[in-house]
Amino acid sequence: MSKKIAVFPGSFDPITKGHEDIVKRGLLLFDEIIIAIGENSTKNYFFPLEKRKSFIEKTFNGESKIKTDTYNGLTIDYCKKVNANFILRGLRNPSDFEFEKAIAQMNRTMAPEIETVLMLTAPEFSAISSTIVRDIIRNNGDVKQFVPSGVELK
Ligand code: ADP
Repeated sequence: MSKKIAVFPGSFDPITKGHEDIVKRGLLLFDEIIIAIGENSTKNYFFPLEKRKSFIEKTFNGESKIKTDTYNGLTIDYCKKVNANFILRGLRNPSDFEFEKAIAQMNRTMAPEIETVLMLTAPEFSAISSTIVRDIIRNNGDVKQFVPSGVELK
């Protein structure tokens, strides 16, 4: 059987404990997970790409089944390039569900061979979002409880 490779796409601005949990649990399903930071030119990011990438690399340092990469363009095209048959995404609440459902179904129409797997967030992480983490950082608050230790702000 061929290696099961999943792409976990996102902005990861920055990576949170919620993302980390999805990746760790995803390892039970896949042989390899590529955390792929999408570069969307219309979005303004808080952390530069290199910083977001290094936070992720530090978080999963030493985990041979987890890779970190960046990409431009459609996620399905990136999946084809790296031979991934799965897209992994996390679900926190009904609005995540509606959003993810639309993307997954459109991706499926364009690339039926790529299966999207939606994993429910663990309850202790379901309130965590990168948006709120950024707000706390902007206001000089402590985000230690919400992000993995690989996110070094100083
Ligand atoms: P995007 O910009 O594509 O929304 P994110 O980096 O914010 O990218 O999120 C990437 C994926 O991680 C999405 O599927 C999102 O629903 C999921 N996610 C974000 N926060 C959490 C969390 N706390 N628990 C579980 N999944 C999460």
